[in-house]
Amino acid sequence: MQRRSFVAGLSSVLWLPRVVRAAAPLAPDPFGLGVASGRPQPSSVVLWTRLMAADPAERLSGEISVGWSIAEDERMQKVVRSGQATAEPQWGHSVHVDVDGLRPNRFYWYRFTVQGKASPVGRTRTAPDAAERVTALRFSFASCQQYEQGFYSAQRHMADEELNAVLFLGDYIYERTWGRDLVRHHEAGRPTTLDEYRNRYALYKSDRDLQAAHAAHPWIVTWDDHEVTNDYADDISPDDHQAKPFLAMRAAAYQAYWEHMPLSNKVKPAGPSFKLYDRYRFGDLAEVFTIDDRQYRAHNACEAKSLQSRYVADCAELLDPSRSMLGAEQEAWFADAMKRASTRWNLLAQQTLMAELDKGKDGAHRYWVDGWDGYPMARQKLLDTIAASPTRDTLVLGGDVHSFWTTDLKRDFADAKAPVVATEFVGGSLTSQTPDDKATQELVRKNPHIRYGRGGVNGYGVVALEPKAATVSFRTVGSVKQQNAPISTHARFVVEAGKPGAHSA
Ligand code: FE
Ligand code: CA
Repeated sequence: MQRRSFVAGLSSVLWLPRVVRAAAPLAPDPFGLGVASGRPQPSSVVLWTRLMAADPAERLSGEISVGWSIAEDERMQKVVRSGQATAEPQWGHSVHVDVDGLRPNRFYWYRFTVQGKASPVGRTRTAPDAAERVTALRFSFASCQQYEQGFYSAQRHMADEELNAVLFLGDYIYERTWGRDLVRHHEAGRPTTLDEYRNRYALYKSDRDLQAAHAAHPWIVTWDDHEVTNDYADDISPDDHQAKPFLAMRAAAYQAYWEHMPLSNKVKPAGPSFKLYDRYRFGDLAEVFTIDDRQYRAHNACEAKSLQSRYVADCAELLDPSRSMLGAEQEAWFADAMKRASTRWNLLAQQTLMAELDKGKDGAHRYWVDGWDGYPMARQKLLDTIAASPTRDTLVLGGDVHSFWTTDLKRDFADAKAPVVATEFVGGSLTSQTPDDKATQELVRKNPHIRYGRGGVNGYGVVALEPKAATVSFRTVGSVKQQNAPISTHARFVVEAGKPGAHSA
């Protein structure tokens, strides 16, 4: 400390650049943020880690060479590929390795080495070949892990699930402290710079239970709002009304996101732009589409335009067909993909509840504008696209609302006879504070296309696909306020192939 303040004093006297830093040494455990894998393809996966300095407030400098290897066995004896990657300072000394030449539909184990130190061994799994006849697939879907509001027992249990991949649907970090009965604390206030976002990810990823879920399965990721800031829409948020400074912050947040996720070197953010939406095929049984409904969405309508109110009542502007949730380019990409879909099931891994949820009382309407209810025409267009697909069976998976939901998605929610176009499941929140169950049950009664709702509990969903049916289990942890809480299943639903709509199982 003494020496640092001496150097700082010198620099101001001698007009040295203010940010001269000594090269910080590697941490005794340079892999303290764990290892991860993602983007599973039939012959490739992405391996991830990030090197840490001894003092988390310090930054490593210069390029650092990191060894990686991937093997067919847990003991890392049958290594099939290995190499050197470079951890670069401009990307926060994160390491992303696109490994190819792998065989489809099998487990692999991997690890990193740096300066004689080895990382823990992670396990990953490639996707089946596009032509393979696949009889079973399992994915968990999860979101919303506010660090201060709960311990990550759910993530620890997710590590033990038998899965092809984890689908993470957003709110990986939170920018702010809020909520009741906090069990631990953020390292600082709201991040706005690249270094501050990096520190927030480093805190979340220091959790051993979260590391276990990453080390056990490949992750397929998308984001929601809190990876940048609450309720943002494109280039503004309720707390940031000026696009220019907001986009500088968004660029920092997007870069930190890429640095900490098992995403490919082929898809890096460029300033405030980052094409995150993608598709993943799992043999002939399923295709998973990751959707980005944040980056390109239209600003709020009517009374919500002021960015103070988050609800609208009767708002004609909502029906303006030019108001998009996904942006024209992503919409066209999705329409084209759905037109040529050829697997049994389509899975939409997206952020939030898609079904209409009228929260009005005594015959009045009231809609929350941050979700799909703020974009009803875009939702109808998306459901038209789904209905036109040769693949009849589409499951929409969501997060964001911190509660569990099963719904019938229809082009017209007001028409009880309108056909069900797709079946929706929202998988609760991992730790983030939940709404009261009593209020949730009132909403279920008011909205007839909603088959099930559950507030007051935390957890995640698991979808098991077979050619003839999909089974979705809603998994719940005992309490997020305790470490090592048990897990159980509080509801289970079946969707039969060719018959959209869920049944209790
Ligand atoms: Fe959330
Ligand atoms: Ca959210």
